[in-house]
Amino acid sequence: MSDAVGEQPSTLLSGWGNVPRILSTERMCEELERDDVLSGNGPTIARGLGRSYGDAALPAVERGVLVSTRLADRWIELDSERGILQAEAGVALRRLTETLLPRGWYVPVCPGTQDVTLGGMVAADVHGKNHHVAGSLGRWVRSLRVRIASDRVVDCSPVHHADLFWSTVGGMGLTGIVTSVELQLERVPSPWIWQRTIRCRDVAELSTDLRRASTEFPFTVGWVDLFAGGRSVLFAGRWASLAESRNMRFVPARVRRTPRVPLSNTLISIANIGYRLSKRPGARLVAADRFFFPLDSIANWNRFYGESGFTQYQCVVPWGADGLGACRVVDAFREFGGISYLTVIKDMGEQGDGLLSFPRPGVTVTFDIPVRTGETERLVREMNERVIEWGGTVYLAKDAFTTPEQFRRMEPRLSEFSKVRQAWDLGRFQSALSRRLGIDTMEGV
Ligand SMILES: Cc1cc2nc3c(=O)[nH]c(=O)nc-3n(C[C@H](O)[C@H](O)[C@H](O)COP(=O)(O)OP(=O)(O)OC[C@H]3O[C@@H](n4cnc5c(N)ncnc54)[C@H](O)[C@@H]3O)c2cc1C
Repeated sequence: MSDAVGEQPSTLLSGWGNVPRILSTERMCEELERDDVLSGNGPTIARGLGRSYGDAALPAVERGVLVSTRLADRWIELDSERGILQAEAGVALRRLTETLLPRGWYVPVCPGTQDVTLGGMVAADVHGKNHHVAGSLGRWVRSLRVRIASDRVVDCSPVHHADLFWSTVGGMGLTGIVTSVELQLERVPSPWIWQRTIRCRDVAELSTDLRRASTEFPFTVGWVDLFAGGRSVLFAGRWASLAESRNMRFVPARVRRTPRVPLSNTLISIANIGYRLSKRPGARLVAADRFFFPLDSIANWNRFYGESGFTQYQCVVPWGADGLGACRVVDAFREFGGISYLTVIKDMGEQGDGLLSFPRPGVTVTFDIPVRTGETERLVREMNERVIEWGGTVYLAKDAFTTPEQFRRMEPRLSEFSKVRQAWDLGRFQSALSRRLGIDTMEGV
């Protein structure tokens, strides 16, 4: 039998944004249910494919242990009649979609990249372009197995140990290591998306069109060019029927290399114009992977930002009675001098039951911001104050700069989450993020 738990020499690791970087000891685990996965007493946290942007999948202390799950990637069972999948937590979404789509099934909630693990998706309770109709992933998870101690693996679901279940969904790994996931899949008629593209003059027009499209389409997303006064492109889609896609021929997406050119505002504004013009208004069929994961067609695009890295600021705020919630967020970002190379707006539906889950009703806006020491921290903290004022919050899977004091004001369910962690004695599961946000010092509230 192969060595199922292999500790690697310490290396500098980061999230997708390349900052912060922390000396980490990766414990590569093929079998997450072995007792020695949690050997030793120090703080421990799971790491999937490292696609969270900030410090969520980094150790709480230098050389701290990361339980790397990506080798624990077996399918356990697929009930292809009822569309119920059970798989190990390290299986990548890419493998799931490639295997399921030809069989007429799909993962009902997908983030914007396929290079994430099932465990990472559960821990972030990810949302997709269909949050306004499908909710976040947690709504589709039937049960979880979670390693909570070296001698204890617990089965939990919305009806069995529901407190552990809803703390683990969206709990950013702070309640243990998810070893396997039972997921309800979605039946799909074809591998194609019927997509409508609409160009919008500015964020106000995009907001109106996005909300209207969300009443007609299950998938909606807006791309905004902040270098061009908020000119935008709205993509709305639904699964195409078999009849509609009869003559379509599948051409695998070409993966391009990240161009090796110095990043600058001028370069991005030219690239944005090119992108906008290439998106012709109208309706067409597109392959599902191109619709859901457009950024995956550029390999390692995060390296584009160089050594100093980037952060993604993602918040959700209510649309407001005037429907201008997104405009307020974008205006505040401009007022505080923010520069965003990629800006995306999505409509959000009902809140799920995950105690720390990000999605809630309103509009979510993301900004990809090149990190400049000091300046980026200030920008994020100023944005946070506005977001708190509007009754919103930020997404922990993207965050790197929020303060503990701001997080407490954003997250009313934090003390409930901490009580569950205490009740199950889960204090050893800590990350750089939980340390930074003071979540670990909340035990005993
Ligand atoms: C290009 C891009 C687009 C994205 N688009 C979206 C989007 O549209 N919607 C969205 O919601 N998110 C989005 N994300 C964020 C991404 O979906 C999440 O960060 C996800 O958690 C990453 O999965 P991962 O396997 O890489 O996890 P990691 O980044 O390795 O870990 C993320 C968190 O999950 C925990 N974790 C990982 N595995 C386990 C496990 N087995 N048990 C317990 N905890 C675990 C970690 O401790 C950490 O807290 C995007 C990210 C990128 C890079």
